[in-house]
Parts: sequence; C-alpha cells; structure tokens
Amino acid sequence: MTAHGGGKHSKAVHSGHRAAEHHGAVSVPIYQCSTFAFPSAEEGAARFSGESKGLIYTRLGNPTIAALETCVAELEGGCGAVGAATGMGAVSTVLLTFLGAGSHLVGTHPLYGPSRGLVDRHLSRFGVSASWVGAADLEGMRAAVRPETKLIYVETPANPTLDLVDLAGAAEIARAAGVPLVVDNTFAGPHLQRPLAWGADVVLHSMTKSLNGHADVVAGIVVAREPATLARLRETAMTFGITMDPHQAWLVLRGIRTLGMRVERAQENARALAAWLERHPAVEWLRYPGLPSHPQHELAQRQMDGPGSMIAFELKGGVEAGRRVMNAVRLVTLAVSLGGVESLIEHPASMTHKGVAAEEQLRQGITPGLVRLSVGCEDLEDLRADLEQALAQA
Ligand SMILES: *Cc1c(COP(=O)(O)O)cnc(C)c1O
Repeated sequence: MTAHGGGKHSKAVHSGHRAAEHHGAVSVPIYQCSTFAFPSAEEGAARFSGESKGLIYTRLGNPTIAALETCVAELEGGCGAVGAATGMGAVSTVLLTFLGAGSHLVGTHPLYGPSRGLVDRHLSRFGVSASWVGAADLEGMRAAVRPETKLIYVETPANPTLDLVDLAGAAEIARAAGVPLVVDNTFAGPHLQRPLAWGADVVLHSMTKSLNGHADVVAGIVVAREPATLARLRETAMTFGITMDPHQAWLVLRGIRTLGMRVERAQENARALAAWLERHPAVEWLRYPGLPSHPQHELAQRQMDGPGSMIAFELKGGVEAGRRVMNAVRLVTLAVSLGGVESLIEHPASMTHKGVAAEEQLRQGITPGLVRLSVGCEDLEDLRADLEQALAQA
C-alpha cells in the first residue's frame, strides 16, 4: 500500500504525484522541455553512465511522463511502466523487445486488427512466425508452443467479439513454457481487470480508450511485473523512438483521475442496455460478458471486477440492418475507438477489422453483421431512446 491508500479510486486520483516535490502544485506540472541542464560535466557523464539518476533528455525520461507511468503501474500492480506515443506503439514495444529473427509467438484470436497485422504483415518480414488459437482454446495454446516460442500474447475481452481468455490458465501455460505472458488490457482497463495478479508478466494499454477516456488523445503504455523486464521494454521504446510527449502524458493523467467513476457509470449503462437489447425483437444475438448468455459469463465473474461497457450484437436483418441503425443514431456517434465518456457505434468487418481477410474474420467470429457498441456516460434513458428509434429503422 502506498502513502495515499490502496483503493482503486484513491490510486487513480493520487498515484504518481507528490505536491511537495512540485512547489505544492496539486496537479502534476507539465515539464514541456526536450532536454535537462547538467550542473557539471561530471554529473552529465554520471547520468549517462547510470551512476546518477538525474534527468537527461525527454525521450529517455521526463517527470510528467514518469508521473503517468507510476500511476498506471500502481493501478495494474506492476513494478513500473513505459509510456508510448500510441497503443500500437505499446504493442510494438512489447513485440520488438521479445521477438527476433527465428522466434515464434503464440497469440489468441480475435485481436485488435492492427496488432494482428503487425505480426502477420510486418514482423514476418524479419523472420518472426506466429500460431493463432481461439481465445477460449487453452489446450490449443499449450499445443502451439514450440522450442522457439518467445511470447504468448492475448487480448481479453477480445476486440470486437468480447471472447475472454482465462488469464490464470494462460499464465500457467506461459510459465511451463518459460516465456512471458503479455495481455492487452485495453478493453477492461485496470479498474475492472488486473492481469498481473493472475500471473501475466506484461500488460499493455491503448490509453486512447478508457484510461484517457475523453476522445482527445492517442497514447499507449506497457506495464511490467519485474524490473529486469521493464528495463528491456524501456530500452526498446527509447531506441525506436516510441516514447510519448509530456503534454500528452499530462492529458492522459488528468483523464485517469476520474477513471473509476467513468468506468462504473458506463458499465451501469451497458448492463441495462445489453439486457434490454438482447430481448429486442430486431436483435438476432448479443454478446456481453455481464449476461448469462455469454458463453464465458462465469469466467468474467471470476477474473473481472465487472463486465465493462462494450457490447457486440447482430441484427436480424444482418449487414444491411446494421448499416441502417448506424446511420440512424443521433446521440450515439458513428465512430471507431471506445471507452470514452461518449457512446460510439461501429462496424468491425468494414472498419476496425477491415485488414483481416474475410474468411479469417469469420473464423474469428467477426460476422459481417456484427455491430460494436461502446457505451458511454450519458443518461441511460437518452441512450435507450436513441437506440430504440434507430432500431425501428433496421
Ligand atoms: C485501440 C486499440 C489498440 C491500438 O491503440 P492506438 O492508441 O489506436 O494505437 C490496441 N489494442 C486494442 C485492444 C485497442 O482497442
């Protein structure tokens, strides 16, 4: 437990900041500078050699970015974190740290489309291979491990189908294989799920989503369980230039101060909307981890503090009906991204997961008619009324 208390809300409000270290400033100041003066040539040399901990240059470290890193690391229960310019920067940092020519990755599907594309279309050019198994297929994951496997990479809940990966089970497989388990925790966020506590080694986020929560920043972060892993990740992010900007870090930190309140309110809305939508005559099927109809509902109850605010569903009229609903919403916004205060709706097959081949989409459960809804913090009655009028046009 830290000085400011061990609760999730207390950490979100206070972690990473000590006012006394910043002239009493109650919010973390923005250190908007590229470089830091050395008091002497000897001290400059000591900082470069690692003998002294002082600041050098913002790509290598900056107090505003460090405040955000400490905050997210404490929320996730890690030893520390490395901020990244984007969520994809966080994914890249992890993959570039653990993989090299001849190495192999075991990953689950579905994944955020560009994360899968980074492995299949880009790392493959550098001699990296991958095996992909279904999110719920732990036996397949165990069987896919080879001597050259260097990493197990999972996303849970998975984007966009909300399939879950059993984190304790995946961690056991990674431990037996002697490789790190990496979890993209963007969908749930640390308020609802902390993968390190289930045995994961590294957690990453697109902070563009619920951590920032206001649709005004793109950013990412990687959290490590062990200091040795953190040092390797930081070295990658610094050398490849994936690191973030101080002003960006400050905006995300301001967003995080209200994380729990936003996430809980959006989740309350999502629970009510999912239960209502599932019974709506226009809806063919609906997937929400908080409903007993989700095939992994019990796992959701076990490893998550709550089912979150993402809903996937398909309308009886398929693709065409989905398109009519997306064009008819007024309060809900037709846009990609998720986890913000505003509700967003999108069509994964033609938008976020367009880069995944059509037959591969189907294999992963991304049906042509699947619509993804990110529920925000508006009034429930307004959201329900908007969806009702839009569904009437399906
Ligand atoms: C959005 C997202 C990313 C990528 O994040 P950016 O900030 O857009 O680069 C990675 N993983 C998941 C699950 C996401 O939703």
